[in-house]
Amino acid sequence: MKDCIFCKIAKKEEKAEIIHENDNLIVFKDIKPKAPIHYLIVPKKHIKSINELKEENKGLIGEMVLTAKKIAGKVGIKDSGYKLIFNVGRGGGQIVDHLHLHVLGGWKKSS
Ligand code: AMP
Ligand code: ZN
Repeated sequence: MKDCIFCKIAKKEEKAEIIHENDNLIVFKDIKPKAPIHYLIVPKKHIKSINELKEENKGLIGEMVLTAKKIAGKVGIKDSGYKLIFNVGRGGGQIVDHLHLHVLGGWKKSS
């Protein structure tokens, strides 16, 4: 979608620190991290938020969550633990109107 920052990152029209990408998703560092480790899992298709999800998007959401697990392993927070957050709408803290899953962690070392 025109003027959507995450669509632009997906199309490489805007820079981002990308650590994973496939046909459906792109994963990059949050520009203003709210945790020592903070990545965003973003579908390439423009869907505004969880509120706009349809039955046909089930597979995509599953892939986002499984990718979060994979990224957590890759960046070394799988065992220490992490948070996965979908902000939904302004009242839910959503600022960028393109569906994304926050992966936050790195507060403590794994035991
Ligand atoms: P939300 O509040 O759930 O909409 O989160 C949007 C997130 O996107 C925030 O944590 C921002 O710091 C992050 N963000 C906004 N613009 C960019 C960008 N160009 N590159 C990386 N992260 C961004
Ligand atoms: Zn978009």
